[in-house]
This record gives sequence, C-alpha cells and structure tokens, in this order.
Amino acid sequence: MRTVPFFNYPFLFKSREDDFIRIFKDVGSRGAYILQKDLLDFETNLAKFAGTKYAVGLANGTDAIWLALMAAGIGKGDEVIFASHTYIATAAAIHFVGATPIPADCKRDHMIDPASVRKLITERTKAILPTQLNGRCCDMDALIKIAKENNLIILEDAAQGLGSKYKGKGIGTFDKGATISFYPAKNLGSFGDGGGFVTNDKEMYDQVMLLRDHGRNDEGIFVRWGFNSRLDNFQAAILNYKIGYYNAEIEKRRKIASFYQNRLQDVRELLLPPAPDADTIFFDVYQNYEIEAERRDELKIYLKENGIGTLIQWNGQPVHSLTSLGFSGTGLPYTEAMFKKCLMIPMNTSLQEEDLEYVCDSISKFYR
Ligand SMILES: *Cc1c(COP(=O)(O)O)cnc(C)c1O
Repeated sequence: MRTVPFFNYPFLFKSREDDFIRIFKDVGSRGAYILQKDLLDFETNLAKFAGTKYAVGLANGTDAIWLALMAAGIGKGDEVIFASHTYIATAAAIHFVGATPIPADCKRDHMIDPASVRKLITERTKAILPTQLNGRCCDMDALIKIAKENNLIILEDAAQGLGSKYKGKGIGTFDKGATISFYPAKNLGSFGDGGGFVTNDKEMYDQVMLLRDHGRNDEGIFVRWGFNSRLDNFQAAILNYKIGYYNAEIEKRRKIASFYQNRLQDVRELLLPPAPDADTIFFDVYQNYEIEAERRDELKIYLKENGIGTLIQWNGQPVHSLTSLGFSGTGLPYTEAMFKKCLMIPMNTSLQEEDLEYVCDSISKFYR
C-alpha cells in the first residue's frame, strides 16, 4: 500500500538540505540573530513579491493580525466582521485589541460572503477582516464597496494567501494591508514561527514597525507602547532564500489542483474548489485543497485505511461554533452545512504524480 501523508514535514528540510545548512552556517558565523541584514533583505524581497510599498517581518501570523489591528486604531467598543471559516487566531487578535469579533458566513468557494457581512454591520462596526483562505482572495470588489458605503477599513488575514490575486492585484493592496504567516506548513514556510505584514499605507507600516520592537524608533527612542514581535533573522534568511523560488512552488500547487480537477470533477458526490483556470478574476495559490464530500466522515476513514492523510480544517470548528468563547453557535447556514462535508486532501510540493493518482483512484473507488 502506498502512503500519502497529509503534509510531509521532513521534506521541508530535506528538499534543499545543503542550501539550508549553508545558510545556517552563514548566519550563525556572522552572529546575526535579531534585526539584521537578512531580515532587511527579506522585507525588501517580500514587498517586491507582494507588489506593496512596504513589508515587515513579525514573530508569527497571529501577532501580525493583532499588531495590524492595533496600528489601525481598532479597540474597545469596536466591532470587526470576519469569516467564521477561519483560524481562531483571527478572532483572538480582534479580542485582544479589546474589540468584538463578529463572525460572518461563507459561500460556495468557502470565502466570506459579502451579503452576510452587510447584514452584520452596526454603528459600532469599524473594520472588515476577510481571510484570504486556502490560497484564494475573497470577492474584494464587493467588500470594498461595502466598506466605502459604511466608512469601514479592510484589513486582510492573508496567512494562507501570499501570491494570490484578485483582478491582478495581490494581497495587501486592497486597503490597510495584509498579514501573513510563515508557519512551516504555510505556502511560504519557515523552520519555526514567523509572520509578516505587507501594505501600501505608510502610517500602517510605521506603526507596525514601532509595535514589533517595543515602540522604539530608528534612533532607539521609545515613542509609543510596543511589544517584542520580531521575525528571527535566521528564519528571515531561510525565507529570503525560499521566496526566490516561491513562484515555481505556486505553479506546482496549481498543477496539482488541475490534476485533482481533471480526475475528480465527474465524481458527483464532491464539490471541488474553483479550478486554476476557472476564470480570469481569481489567481489562487492553493494553500489547501478543500473539497465538500458526501459521507465525509466515512470517506476520511476509508482514505486513512488506505494510507492517505486528510484534514478537516480547524478540527471541524468554525469560530462561531465556539460557545465556550461566547459565540452563539448558530445563524450561519452555509458554514454550518459546509462543516459537515468539508475535507482537505493532500496539497503540497512533496507530492508526486503517482501520489495524486493514488489519491484520486482511492476517492473514486470509495464512491463506486
Ligand atoms: C496560520 C493562520 C494564522 C496564524 O498564523 P500563525 O503564524 O500560526 O500565528 C492566522 N489565520 C489563518 C487563516 C491561518 O491559516
């Protein structure tokens, strides 16, 4: 029996082991650990890649959302609308600036539903925080229209979205900026925790830069309250190397998505994510390949018995289902129905064509 793990963590290192060791030696022998040249170089290349004026390296993707909200002046008494189909980190960041997280429904492509957002707006609403989920951008035109009409800001949780585009524009370019995660299993992953923020907004950039380093400016003077949320220089050096071939990795992921599309589109019990060539509006980078499947739980067990790893995102818990955190648990029909069916099948650059064939054959066999 073939085994196809959901994610291959050792491959991350082994894929280019010699180069990673060379980088480790280089950084270590320079004694360059915190706020050094490698971080500056990476920030320059990250901004270049994202097509934004500015980029900041941060300690992790959760801090990135938290600091960006703080930089935007979101706080006590404010409401922030976000997609219930996101990681708890999105809501936690809103909670920890003292604002109230308001979960919204998602739609068929699993992105936040602008119609649901519109219904949730009150006089306290200050921001929309859409998650650019699974490597896909949300319907940004619709969100920007709602934001303009209601005087709201948009901040993107693009932890899963670096490289994804909407009408040719990348994450971070739509309003106040986008936060990124470099968690190892993310599309651009480091060897530990890491995060980033990209923006065209000078004020947002300046404030996030201050917040990540104790409120200290270029002259070392403390000009506001801040934190320690710096991206380690070693991780930055690794990421600066990896961003050099990130476009090729995206192409690999899009090829895998095409393969799944071709081989699974006729399985009537499945709803697949939009195909890479479905339209010219969205450019998806496939952080995940999240399907909806009839008899999902049985399928998951069957695939496991056949050596294939799958994952239900957020362990099956959309944020609004977390009544222990004060959420209502109901009222978002698409999300609730979808979480009975959603399943992520393997999507990563270690996959070989034989792996993909085996996954597709196994799924087809299950429904036959
Ligand atoms: C991974 C992730 C985060 C958090 O990133 P960390 O780097 O793990 O803190 C936030 N939001 C979404 C949607 C994510 O997938």
